[in-house]
Amino acid sequence: MIVHKEICVGCGRCQPYCPAGAIHFEDRKSAVDQDACFECGTCLRTGICPVDAFREPPQVFAYPRALRKYFSDPTSTHSVTGIQGRGTEESKTNDVTLRCGPGEVGVSIEIGRPTLGMDLHDIQKITRALAASGIHEMEPNNPIHSMILDHRTGELKPELLNERVLSAIIEMQIPREKLAGMLQTIKKVIPELDSVFTLDVVTLLEEGLTIPDEVLATIAAEGFTWRPNAKINMGLGRVADEERI
Ligand code: SF4
Ligand code: SF4
Repeated sequence: MIVHKEICVGCGRCQPYCPAGAIHFEDRKSAVDQDACFECGTCLRTGICPVDAFREPPQVFAYPRALRKYFSDPTSTHSVTGIQGRGTEESKTNDVTLRCGPGEVGVSIEIGRPTLGMDLHDIQKITRALAASGIHEMEPNNPIHSMILDHRTGELKPELLNERVLSAIIEMQIPREKLAGMLQTIKKVIPELDSVFTLDVVTLLEEGLTIPDEVLATIAAEGFTWRPNAKINMGLGRVADEERI
């Protein structure tokens, strides 16, 4: 994002709206720190500027900077997956897609939040640690899958590492027996991360609409506390693969 200095009247109204703290005064006009800006579009979308001084120049949409917008602007559609909102539907459509089937757990690691954000080195710290512990089942319908240069090592494409985004989701589906090892890997990498994160563990409910005991027992045994959260598209879809039920 840039500010057209010749249009800006220096009122400062835009500056508190920036989640990155990237807008500051320069010669009594507002300017955007290009390293700090997440390209979230909040300053433009709010319409807070009385003279319409914000612009998205072409470089916002050029690779690799375009990743900032895809992961940070909830109105943008990710070019790889064609999905809005960080480029993945995660578990929200699982009752239709059955990404996470019987005997599996889906695991999502959501890193970064507004005002903190994150740089992509943090994603690489996690993907490398997972790969080193033998976990390679990255979700293909998540943009991070295509950002990994080498799935054997978890190394990201080097040109991406200096980009900053508000938030991203690392996502995978693993057999339930791999959950304990995955949680142990995550615990080891937590001290290396420079942002906040949320860990989601996704399962199908069992008969009686209960969460599988073995999943809850594994989470508790590894020292994590959990909060149940159901996402069900009541009647909005159809089962994609009858044989997996
Ligand atoms: S696009 Fe987002 S991060 Fe960049 S200046 Fe505007 S509000 Fe701040
Ligand atoms: S709101 Fe518009 S005019 Fe006011 S400081 Fe920001 S960019 Fe300049």
